[in-house]
Amino acid sequence: MSLTCLGVSVDVNTEFEAVIGLEVHVQLATDSKIFSSARARPEPGNSVADEAVNKNTTPVCAGHPGTLPVLNQKAVNYAIRAGLATSCKINLKSIFARKHYFYPDSPKGYQISQYDLPLCEGGHLDIEWGEEGEMTKRIGITRIHMEEDAGKSVHHHGYSLVNLNRAGVPLIEVVSEPEMRGPAEAGAYLRKLYAIVTAIGVCDGNLQEGNFRCDANVSIRPKGVKEFGTRVEIKNVNSFRFVEKAIEYEVERQRQVILSGGKLVQETRLYDSQKNRTFSMRTKEEAEDYRYFPDPDLPPLILSEEQVEAIRASLPELPDQKRDRYIREFGLKRYDSTLLTSDVLWGRLFQESVALCGRENGKILANLMIGEGMRLVSSADPDETKGFTAKQFSDLALAVADQTVSMTAAKQILAILFEQGGEVGAVIDREGLRQVSDLSALEPVIDEILAKNPKQVEEYRSGKEKVLGFFVGQAMKATRGKANPALLQDLVIRKLKG
Ligand code: ADP
Ligand code: MG
Repeated sequence: MSLTCLGVSVDVNTEFEAVIGLEVHVQLATDSKIFSSARARPEPGNSVADEAVNKNTTPVCAGHPGTLPVLNQKAVNYAIRAGLATSCKINLKSIFARKHYFYPDSPKGYQISQYDLPLCEGGHLDIEWGEEGEMTKRIGITRIHMEEDAGKSVHHHGYSLVNLNRAGVPLIEVVSEPEMRGPAEAGAYLRKLYAIVTAIGVCDGNLQEGNFRCDANVSIRPKGVKEFGTRVEIKNVNSFRFVEKAIEYEVERQRQVILSGGKLVQETRLYDSQKNRTFSMRTKEEAEDYRYFPDPDLPPLILSEEQVEAIRASLPELPDQKRDRYIREFGLKRYDSTLLTSDVLWGRLFQESVALCGRENGKILANLMIGEGMRLVSSADPDETKGFTAKQFSDLALAVADQTVSMTAAKQILAILFEQGGEVGAVIDREGLRQVSDLSALEPVIDEILAKNPKQVEEYRSGKEKVLGFFVGQAMKATRGKANPALLQDLVIRKLKG
């Protein structure tokens, strides 16, 4: 019996294509909640875990009868900012709706969200991926709507408690078109969206605390087929790399189900990063009955053209624009520039460092950060610079620029700073990494090497210029890599010719 998928027959040799649409919940960085005056984020310096349970709540958050929601203007402005930065159309009239479901961490029995008329629609963002970021594509954004977060159930042995600190925290949900075709594209989309919402200051971008969470919708189809297959929604993954891995796993799982003659079901799955697999949480009904209807407590959100344009005018330089500017100003390669400008912390560190060491050293600085700094930190997610300071980077860039240290030594120094911290000058002295540009120090070294290798000297003099490399190598070794290479080579040639 032959197997079919979406009307075409398939076997182990069939090439399948992934279809991916992402729904991202972005926590807006407002001080108060979306419909109440309760704190939306921890006191400065605190983490979410530090906040006393149910401290940041009001009767509105707890859904007490008779309380009324009042819309937070700043949250609206932030949502508009995000919409404009992703080329969305901003609807001057949008509606808040009640989305009904029962869950103990949602005391009202519904979540206030937007449904029929969301705040933003029809945007897009441009992604880059591949080894050198050589693949590019525009991904459509269907809509961005505003909604409130739910509380958190805390499970103990035999009973559960509810913490409402998070109930009513303002979110935007950014829904993409199902236009991504593989894990790398999904990862690139998330990184770009993250770069944008953090660059425009609407999200703190703390991944550990769930400021940016992704639901990935994944289906597959035989390549060439236009129709979509049955999709699975992988819920709440908060690391870019885990989203990529979850999708990779899921695509292969779906392929196996099809090839073994099984049937895919539309369902919600969770990703277990320890085991690197997804597992079923619940099957999803065709249309979940949320009984959406406009929230009678909230009037339609009406905006003026002027309000929207004022926000547009206040947008800072976006990551794509900054990438292009860095290419022009510092002569960076496109991929390097993308790396620097898509990460808020490294981007900030670059900006602060370049202010200290001067624009003319921007390229050296970028090479140090990308070539070595990021590799050392090598965190899966771009949310750490691990204590590197702008002063360290700028001092090091200056030391490379004025040839105090070679680029090779500079990388060693970075590794030491990464491990132990400290000051660039002190590390150079302590480790004896100062580049030797002093002729009087190099001369005796070279004389000795020439004296020890008369045969090679003869070869060079009889026209075999390739042996030059041998002498330079020997001299480098003798100076433990500290000799200034250009100077060294000049000197060797002069001696050989003389
Ligand atoms: P829901 O609200 O039930 O989650 P939507 O129709 O709003 O469903 O779609 C949610 C997300 O799923 C969107 O990002 C969309 O691009 C994506 N999506 C829809 N159909 C598919 C499919 N067959 N395969 C993969 N992704 C899909
Ligand atoms: Mg969904």
